[in-house]
Amino acid sequence: MTDELRRKVAEAIDEHGPGIIDTADQIHKRPEIGFQEKFASQLLADRLKLNGFEVEKPIGGLETAFRATKRGKGPGPTIAVLAEYDALPAIGHGCGHNLIAASGLGAAIGLGQVMDQLDGTFQIIGTPAEEGGGGKVILAEAGVFEGVDASLMIHHAGPYTGSSTEYPGGTCLAVSHYSFTFHGKPAHAAGDPYNGANALNGVIKLFTGIDAIRQHVRTDARIHGIISHGGDAPNVVPHRAEARFYIRAGDQAYLEVLERKVKQIAEGAALMTETRVEIKQEGPTCYDMRPSYVLGRRYEANMREVGMTVYQGARANERGP
Ligand SMILES: [Zn+2]
Repeated sequence: MTDELRRKVAEAIDEHGPGIIDTADQIHKRPEIGFQEKFASQLLADRLKLNGFEVEKPIGGLETAFRATKRGKGPGPTIAVLAEYDALPAIGHGCGHNLIAASGLGAAIGLGQVMDQLDGTFQIIGTPAEEGGGGKVILAEAGVFEGVDASLMIHHAGPYTGSSTEYPGGTCLAVSHYSFTFHGKPAHAAGDPYNGANALNGVIKLFTGIDAIRQHVRTDARIHGIISHGGDAPNVVPHRAEARFYIRAGDQAYLEVLERKVKQIAEGAALMTETRVEIKQEGPTCYDMRPSYVLGRRYEANMREVGMTVYQGARANERGP
């Protein structure tokens, strides 16, 4: 892009600054959790339409997903900027997805001004449920990203906001979510405990079994869980108990190894406690992220050019306590 076009983009964003910030504020004031982002997705769709984008909503079978498109003067690559807008349950916009949404709108307003002088197609894709639910995975499976040559997104990080310019910056562990429901047999805990099968014991053995393998997994493995149901009353042998775990690894292949180990431990825990375990994956697996450092370096140079302070550091989980 020529310097003149780049200047036009920056000017348009400056000119619309208050509207872009207002969009972030409005979404922040009305937090909506994954798949329920009716207000946020409609606000963005309306503002993109106002700025000359052709908006399709809903897309990919998700009510709060949308695609806004502006075509250039001739054929060329299709570049998409992704906008997230879901909040965290009970917290609100603690992760700043309202800013991701406003940044997408800002990119649309800036580039929208010059698309008639560029080749290719520019899109903003609104992606719901990123705090959980895997919105982008659902959209990818529905074919929303077919024909898209590159996708870009910014996730702000307060004073740590920067751009990934070299490995391992910008990478992310692969993750899958599982629930383990142990089914036992109720009995009175003092009257006839010998007739019971203790589902909570199954859950406890699952935790201790996972702890026993921690020495024998790669350093980038993360296996963390909670007991989501531990029984109903102390005087009743728990007939149902449930744990939920997230399993993470540096790459998808090793994640599968860990999943196999954890499932085997769950089966072992059930065998030990004469219970039965039901293992369910919750939502789709997210693969490890592999950023483009070429784009990252360009992004950083542009951030410096507009006078931003750029954070340069290791990825979040190497920052220390
Ligand atoms: Zn986030």
